[in-house]
Amino acid sequence: MIRFHNVSKVYGKDYAALQDVDLSIEPGEFVSLVGRSGAGKSTLIKLLIGEEKPTKGRVVFGSYELSKLLPKDMPEVRRQMGIVFQDFKLLPRKNAYENVAFSLEVKGRPQAEIEEIVPQVLDMVGLEDKEFNFPHELSGGEKQRIAIARAMVHRPSVLLADEPTGNLDEENTIDIIRLISKINELGTTVILATHNKEIVDVVRKRVVTLVDGRIVRDEQKSKYKLS
Ligand code: ADP
Repeated sequence: MIRFHNVSKVYGKDYAALQDVDLSIEPGEFVSLVGRSGAGKSTLIKLLIGEEKPTKGRVVFGSYELSKLLPKDMPEVRRQMGIVFQDFKLLPRKNAYENVAFSLEVKGRPQAEIEEIVPQVLDMVGLEDKEFNFPHELSGGEKQRIAIARAMVHRPSVLLADEPTGNLDEENTIDIIRLISKINELGTTVILATHNKEIVDVVRKRVVTLVDGRIVRDEQKSKYKLS
């Protein structure tokens, strides 16, 4: 489903953020992408969402060759990917319901569909009673739940989470990882980029380790190991 074929990404003249990366991810997998800050995790995700192009190699998502995709075709591919970030990226002047509904509105979805789907995804993340709260009235964990609900509205085949617990305390971190695991168990492929050792060790799924832009380890049912 997702393939990186010998991918390198060089920023500027000669800074290689990723080097010779070969990676295959099958539908339904839960992959933790680990490594120190600067190891290349975000760059790998940016290549997948088409925000950056590889300097060398090919990135394939399903039937799409992302490295060759025209910008006009990218929205169609992006709809098949749900994305969450460390800083939530919620719209501050919209309440929880509106933040989730917005991503359907901009795609021109009919009102009836929006009214059906938004409560469903808010229910899935356990925040059906917070729909009228604005982001400043939500805890960090609740904000991330809203961001996850928003990421799931198009029923993506893959959820990409870039340090989703980076701004959360331990308790909320565990809750968010449970939620992401539940989403995975329901069939969505998950790629979780993190440098949080505890959560990787709890998840015990496939772990891909990056050091200086290279994959140095790729193990099933693994723990966080850097050395
Ligand atoms: P991680 O997500 O593992 O912290 P990143 O993919 O963000 O790593 O960064 C990998 C390396 O590439 C870092 O050294 C970072 O400074 C560099 N880098 C990332 N984005 C850019 C950019 N747009 N321009 C130049 N260098 C960048």
